[in-house]
Amino acid sequence: MQSVLIVNGTLISEESLKQENILTVDSRIISTGISMPAPPRETTIIDAAGKYIIPGGIDPHVHFALPTPAGPSCDDFHSGSLAAMAGGTTFIMDFVTPAPGQNLIEALSLRRQEAESCLLPYRLHVGLTWYDHTIPSQMQRCVNEEGITSFKAYLAYKGSIGIEYHELEKVMHAAASLNAIVLVHCEEGDLILKKQREFVAAGKTSPLCHALSRPPETEANAVKKVIELCRKTGCRTYIVHTSAAESLQYIRAAKAEGLPLYCETCPQYLLLDESVYRKPLPASLKYVISPPIRGRDDREALWVALRDGTVDVVATDHCPFNTFGQKDKGADNFTLIPNGAGGVEHRLALLYTYGVLTKKISLQQFVALTSANAAKIFGLFPEKGSLLPGSATDLVLLDPDYTSVISANNGMQQCDSDIYEGMPISGKFTVVKTPSL
Ligand SMILES: [Zn+2]
Repeated sequence: MQSVLIVNGTLISEESLKQENILTVDSRIISTGISMPAPPRETTIIDAAGKYIIPGGIDPHVHFALPTPAGPSCDDFHSGSLAAMAGGTTFIMDFVTPAPGQNLIEALSLRRQEAESCLLPYRLHVGLTWYDHTIPSQMQRCVNEEGITSFKAYLAYKGSIGIEYHELEKVMHAAASLNAIVLVHCEEGDLILKKQREFVAAGKTSPLCHALSRPPETEANAVKKVIELCRKTGCRTYIVHTSAAESLQYIRAAKAEGLPLYCETCPQYLLLDESVYRKPLPASLKYVISPPIRGRDDREALWVALRDGTVDVVATDHCPFNTFGQKDKGADNFTLIPNGAGGVEHRLALLYTYGVLTKKISLQQFVALTSANAAKIFGLFPEKGSLLPGSATDLVLLDPDYTSVISANNGMQQCDSDIYEGMPISGKFTVVKTPSL
């Protein structure tokens, strides 16, 4: 039996902030409070004076070892989970990305083999990267036989993994009947493809043209249509990596209407702006992500949406590629640059530094956005994401006095560059216990 008693710290949940002690036995929270029954003998006592105790972070959107024509994203499940832990995240959700025509169950079992090196508990969302009449029954097998509760569809990436709206509608009907949730990448694939071809034909091939070929309305129009499908099918719907102010307006209204809709954004959309694409090559390559980094008005709208509950989750879409050897394959044609950037290690520190310390969000909102809300949306709460007795949440100590500067050279992420390079951060996140270790 392993018991840990943390004293003198401040417990932060999504609802409350209390100066209380917390006792765990065999990685399960037994009790919290000021005066507590005597702990078991040989209990490890941790003095957390001046520190916060928070539920371990849950990042429901990472892509470890994602296969692309430029090679896999450069964190695999092993290095990615180490980087996550170093930043206070103790549960991750990754994706199964079936090849065109590949059976979902077969793709799932192959992905589970790749995930064996993961050091954290994890879940997989099954990607619906192609569609025919067999998909609903394959989805049913995923849910009933494999315990899958979430699917992912892409409206972008036409010609590779994107599907059509009428196909998405069938997917959402099937998911609703299975009580599963559908994550949707909302960008208008056909419009983007048209704009990309126009830019390339005109000899406009720099990373800036990546952003210009995917203006905010390509996201917002897709969000609007997906909300229609959510209303029509009743399917629980989760909009990933929301970046545009206009999208937030549609999402806010749909939530007020009571639709089962959830909204995610990521630190890159909260903290960077489109000027990054005007940097010279090769520095601009690392910012090529989809949707692209937006303007300052969009960024400010996202912070408002964090505060008022329109945004439920801050995830990362962690998907780093090296600048040299991967991203630079598209140095003279932006359509060939693998899309994605890292962040799983920095998510909590960035949101704490630039959200909590600037008083844009409260500590409780910080916990809601980084852990509790994802646990609730994906059916893990209160087993994870909570500080309630009985929960098996991994505890994280947050030392608010620690300061550092982000650099690709001193981090755990396996990438030669970092989109947050040089940004100062406050807060050190130390995992108290990890059941799987
Ligand atoms: Zn993603």
